[in-house]
Amino acid sequence: MRVSPEVFFVVLQTWAFAVSLAIGSFLNVCIARMPQDRSVVSPGSMCPSCGHKIPWYENIPVLSWVFLRGRCSACGTKISALYPGVELLMGVLGLLLFRRLVPDLASVDAAHLAAWGIFTVFVAMQVANTFIDQKHRILPDELTIYAAPFGVLAALLLSYLGYQGHLAINWQQSVVGALAGSGVLLLLIGGYWLVRRVQGMGFGDVKLLLAFGAFLGIWAVLPILMIASLVGLAVGIPMMLARGQGMRLELPFGPFLVAGAMVWVYFGTELMAWWIPYGTLASGGL
Ligand SMILES: [Zn+2]
Repeated sequence: MRVSPEVFFVVLQTWAFAVSLAIGSFLNVCIARMPQDRSVVSPGSMCPSCGHKIPWYENIPVLSWVFLRGRCSACGTKISALYPGVELLMGVLGLLLFRRLVPDLASVDAAHLAAWGIFTVFVAMQVANTFIDQKHRILPDELTIYAAPFGVLAALLLSYLGYQGHLAINWQQSVVGALAGSGVLLLLIGGYWLVRRVQGMGFGDVKLLLAFGAFLGIWAVLPILMIASLVGLAVGIPMMLARGQGMRLELPFGPFLVAGAMVWVYFGTELMAWWIPYGTLASGGL
């Protein structure tokens, strides 16, 4: 049987969606356990209420939750809709990224598929960061500073594979990006402290921008900071006015930095054309 190229491409996109759903399932484990410094590998998933060990067929992304009607099969305790929600969110984000990074059959090769794999994991880490920061006001080191070296390795691998597309950076751009990203935030924190004698931002944000620089490169750092500031102002000013707390309201900056990184990952080509009009920089110089 001959499979037409169009059918093959649809199968490939379905596979990308399924892989992303599975990553979303693992994200639920990370979101629940990382803030408590528990292992994300063992023990396997169990019902938090009765300890029922969840077998693989009750752990299929989204579908299991629907078939179990959102309840534990052993004790009937409700399972939050947040679980299938995170899985579906990651599935959609991974599929959209696939359509962005592997836009047609001609681009199906090791380099483009590797780029999709690397940046899907990067996006997944930011989904976890957002949910964890939202709930616990922390950004786990595993998803920030410890992830940064993998950003440099990813840049090396993609350069080795000859990846030229959207998001291509070389290892120099990665290393300088990490240093510049964390350095700029350290300067901001230092400056703010000198003026107001309070720490305006957490070191979690510094480690986060260190990882962003490592994965996305030096040219992404300034646009991410600008987008984060704009989103922060758009969200923060109405909240300050509504609560009447003035400038003392403390908002976690992490989610805004994540928003900036997401815009760069999905729309970086367009932003790059605007930010550096003379074209892609992956091939030459810094
Ligand atoms: Zn149970």
